[in-house]
Amino acid sequence: MPSVKYQRGEMVMGRWPGSSLYYEVKVLRYDASSQLYTVIYKDGTELELKEQDIKNAAGFQTRSRSRSRSRSPGRRRSRSRSPARTTRRSSSRTAAAVATAAITESAPTSRRDAKLKDTPEVRLSPLVSATAAFTVSALLFAFCLPHSVCPSVSDPLCAPPGFFAIAVSAVAVVAAVHQGVDLTYIHSHFLQLATASLLISVLLSIYLYVRSRYAAPEQLALGGNSGNVVYDFFKGHELNPRIKDFDLKFFCEMRPGLIGWCLINFAMALAEMKEQSLNAPSYSMILVNLFQLLYVLDGLWNEEAILTTMDLMHDGFGFMLAFGDLVWVPFTYTLQAYYLVSHPNLLSLPALAAIVTLKLVGFYIFRKSNSEKNAFRRNPSDPKLSHLKTIPTATGKSLLVSGWWGVVRHPNYLGDLMMALAWSLPCGFSHLLPWHYMIYFIILLVHRDSRDMSECRRKYGSAWDEYCRTVRYRIIPRVY
Ligand code: NDP
Repeated sequence: MPSVKYQRGEMVMGRWPGSSLYYEVKVLRYDASSQLYTVIYKDGTELELKEQDIKNAAGFQTRSRSRSRSRSPGRRRSRSRSPARTTRRSSSRTAAAVATAAITESAPTSRRDAKLKDTPEVRLSPLVSATAAFTVSALLFAFCLPHSVCPSVSDPLCAPPGFFAIAVSAVAVVAAVHQGVDLTYIHSHFLQLATASLLISVLLSIYLYVRSRYAAPEQLALGGNSGNVVYDFFKGHELNPRIKDFDLKFFCEMRPGLIGWCLINFAMALAEMKEQSLNAPSYSMILVNLFQLLYVLDGLWNEEAILTTMDLMHDGFGFMLAFGDLVWVPFTYTLQAYYLVSHPNLLSLPALAAIVTLKLVGFYIFRKSNSEKNAFRRNPSDPKLSHLKTIPTATGKSLLVSGWWGVVRHPNYLGDLMMALAWSLPCGFSHLLPWHYMIYFIILLVHRDSRDMSECRRKYGSAWDEYCRTVRYRIIPRVY
């Protein structure tokens, strides 16, 4: 086997399928076509293993005899699912005979992982335990969101369609994982998938541009009509392109990007377990997954709010939005989870508690302030808002000068920034990659805030100046 990493007859450590345990094994042969090694355990069991499930003996420590005796690998093996890639060739004797050879990887296991191995959970396969954990958390979020964070929906059974879309997707994904679909493919082919999405967004944009040439004038956006092909292709020409009743822009804004974001995060959790030989995702990975899942679920629950956003109301549907929805959100907002797959970051309990607190406080400010403004804009004479002070404007609309919007300008940005910080902190400070979202988001909000300030000054004139004099504090400092 000239170009092969492990040679015939070499003694190496082979991972027992479906577990994080490594045993001493001898390499029998290598099959170049299937790229599998046939190895033999000390009890005579022959298995086919991938190269990534084999390690050199260096860097391992043996388990104590008493521990190995008390939990035989035979028991583990009988309850764990073998990955499809492994084929058991022959085993007349049980692997219990090699209990004393049970080996664990010395690094980077944590005390938490060691503890996990002592619990019955370890008998579940990694995929089953991760799936169970995520199903439970998804269901918890889906059905336990308090009404205070869902002001637009009075009956939890009348959840918006987006919410059902993600619930159905979650069920489909969990079922696929149980059927043996290997979602870690998403991690190992991340760039290829991002490139494929980019290609789809380009094709979609070409289609949008071509069809916009035949659209009636009243269906066109204000921007995107410059006559410059490149600019109009980028900015979008038609406001709300539809195929019959199917609104392409609304769909792309609310479905593939947001649900794909959660799916990719989940796949990263599985990839982390595989790569780090863990029985459950790390705490950092769980935090990143749950925090972002909460953000997406909140967005889908309140999806009617998007109908009044700039994206929906004013921007044409072109490459800018198509790229943002299909590539930028799913493939860059998942970079924290992607990073954690190969860069474990252990969190102390106080750090974990602090990050969770930051996220929850940020979410509270974000949701409460956004809901207060949305409720006020929907019905300014709502009796529940009668305690709020307002300034009238020449347009007939009023501006809030008490409540959340009286404390600081753009309180919703504050909550969003706190949440963004809580998404990056679980990844530590060793690399810039997991901080990408935070940096991008600050730049985005600075630009957005400045655009909004000019727009509001134009719309409301002296009433806006009075608002700014009354509410002096702003979340985003004026930079230009
Ligand atoms: P806002 O929701 O803050 O909307 C700004 C508008 O609110 C103003 O144009 C004005 O519109 C109205 N308004 C401002 N001040 C007052 C006031 N005192 N009283 C009443 N109405 C007021 O802005 P965005 O659309 O930028 O953000 C919405 C949310 O989405 C934020 O939480 C933001 O952080 C988040 N976001 C997240 C992104 C992400 O990638 N994660 C990207 C972009 C936004 P009018 O008077 O015409 O009603």
